[in-house]
Amino acid sequence: MEGFTEFRSQLTACRLCPRLVAWREGVAGKKRAHRGEVYWARPVPGFGDPKARLLLFGLAPGAHGSNRTGRPFTGDASGAFLYPLLWEAGLASQRESLPGDGLRLLGVYLTAAVRCAPPENRPTREEILACSAWTRVELALLPELRVYLALGRVAHEALLEQFGLRRSAHPFFHGAHYPLPGGRHLLSSYHVSRQNTQTGRLTREMFLEILLRAKALAGL
Ligand code: SF4
Repeated sequence: MEGFTEFRSQLTACRLCPRLVAWREGVAGKKRAHRGEVYWARPVPGFGDPKARLLLFGLAPGAHGSNRTGRPFTGDASGAFLYPLLWEAGLASQRESLPGDGLRLLGVYLTAAVRCAPPENRPTREEILACSAWTRVELALLPELRVYLALGRVAHEALLEQFGLRRSAHPFFHGAHYPLPGGRHLLSSYHVSRQNTQTGRLTREMFLEILLRAKALAGL
């Protein structure tokens, strides 16, 4: 597959996971705050700098966030936490993200282990495995990557699978840091979900510190 345009066109037609296809389309417009809006309701391609040195790798689209807007981490509480901190770290051209707003990520690319919204944000093992083929293709389009920042355990384990690393030797925890071949790095953080940020499990300070570490390791 050649280039982002072809990747995007093939990915957005994917219907490999029947449960997720039904959910991503079925939840459209079901939340009172977004009733009547036209939802993206397809697989969500990554977003950011094609020359990125830092990857942020999430779990899956939120039903009324990126499944609605079509841009990763955009339109829900996860994005409202993440984007201002990317901006504070000097990794984004503005504090907020809205489709079509001209936002540029600076040396950063965002994507996720699963590209269709799952019920209760919980993809099955089979769905994670199915989408890992898309991850392989998407990562191959980003040859400058030096740092892979996993957001949450599912993302961490999906990246281990991509690199052929054993889970027992590379456990997930907030702040985990493992070297990868070629002078690259795997860093891991708690996910930026509302569940973590509203309970104080992940604070702005904790996440900014991880972002700045990742930025320095990436040479940005
Ligand atoms: Fe395709 Fe991934 Fe969506 Fe499954 S989750 S339907 S593999 S894009």
